[in-house]
Amino acid sequence: MAKTLVFLEHHDGAIQKGSLGVLSTVGGAHGVLVGSGVRALAEGIGTTVWVADDERLAAPLPQPRVDVLAKLVRDEGYDTVLFGQSVLAADVAAGVAARLDAGLNWGLVDFDGTQGRAPALQDTVVVDVGWTTPVRIGLFRAGALDPAELGGATEVKDATVELEDFSTAAEMVEQAHAEQQGPSIEEADVIVAGGRGLGEPEKFALAEELAQALGGAVAATRAVVDAGWYPYSAQVGQTGKTVSPKLYVALGISGAIQHKVGMQGSNVIVAINKDPNAPIFEFSDLGVVGDLHDIVPKLTELVRARRS
Ligand SMILES: Cc1cc2nc3c(=O)[nH]c(=O)nc-3n(C[C@H](O)[C@H](O)[C@H](O)COP(=O)(O)OP(=O)(O)OC[C@H]3O[C@@H](n4cnc5c(N)ncnc54)[C@H](O)[C@@H]3O)c2cc1C
Repeated sequence: MAKTLVFLEHHDGAIQKGSLGVLSTVGGAHGVLVGSGVRALAEGIGTTVWVADDERLAAPLPQPRVDVLAKLVRDEGYDTVLFGQSVLAADVAAGVAARLDAGLNWGLVDFDGTQGRAPALQDTVVVDVGWTTPVRIGLFRAGALDPAELGGATEVKDATVELEDFSTAAEMVEQAHAEQQGPSIEEADVIVAGGRGLGEPEKFALAEELAQALGGAVAATRAVVDAGWYPYSAQVGQTGKTVSPKLYVALGISGAIQHKVGMQGSNVIVAINKDPNAPIFEFSDLGVVGDLHDIVPKLTELVRARRS
């Protein structure tokens, strides 16, 4: 049985859904929290959580985190370190792999204790992936795992913080947050996604108003992102993000395979499309054939009325 450590990434006082998804899916795993003033975040996790709490770890920089994780693996004999995909997690995972001379598999959607599973060939198949090194490093695909209910007794242990000189050479000069109302698409329970069928960029207001009424986030297809209608950060699909909300409402989206792979893990998929033969209807739970410009404003009104 693997002795597994999961990197618990946190921002703004909350552990990221992706990390919690990995921790709750991989049985018997321990967590590690790295930062400054983060001890309270360990409460209620329900497993052993190593806490590296140090002022020098306040900025979300990768190298100091690599120091902490590499030392923990060496000192405590962990043979597997898993991460939920993010920009920071990818940097830390690569650094830990280099430091420990360990193999790194990314894009994982499952791990059984010795082997991983990952989509391949443009997501048309899922293959087994393995490691040949004593320590395995794995990066899970963003949105691949939903966090199950965590809780119970948590054993908090202090991790030793010994930083290399070169790890503290970088300094965070400025950190900016993207302006955003409501949840991000990675975290949202409800996503309203817009495609080329919206007709023009201004019509994204229809998606935004419906998303706001449902308390959700707005996503987009690559076609509209490439056309400059919506930012890349909202793109779902093979070359965008993978999401798994409870409800995914697709407005004017054809359902190309490259889009499908990013949202097929949604619990309920509702599609509104004027073409009854649109591929998206093949994998929707509810399909509405019609002009979204007629349907969406009425739907938004109905949702608002129900909620008020
Ligand atoms: C290597 C590669 C990677 C890719 N990665 C991605 C990716 O990450 N994400 C992604 O989304 N795509 C990706 N694509 C592009 C993908 O193949 C499709 O081109 C894209 O998803 C289509 O976007 P769309 O559904 O918005 O547009 P379209 O395919 O043009 O579909 C528009 C739909 O809107 C409907 N419609 C039009 N008017 C209305 C109306 N008034 N009311 C209701 N319905 C209407 C039409 O019937 C049509 O079905 C990738 C492609 C390649 C080759």
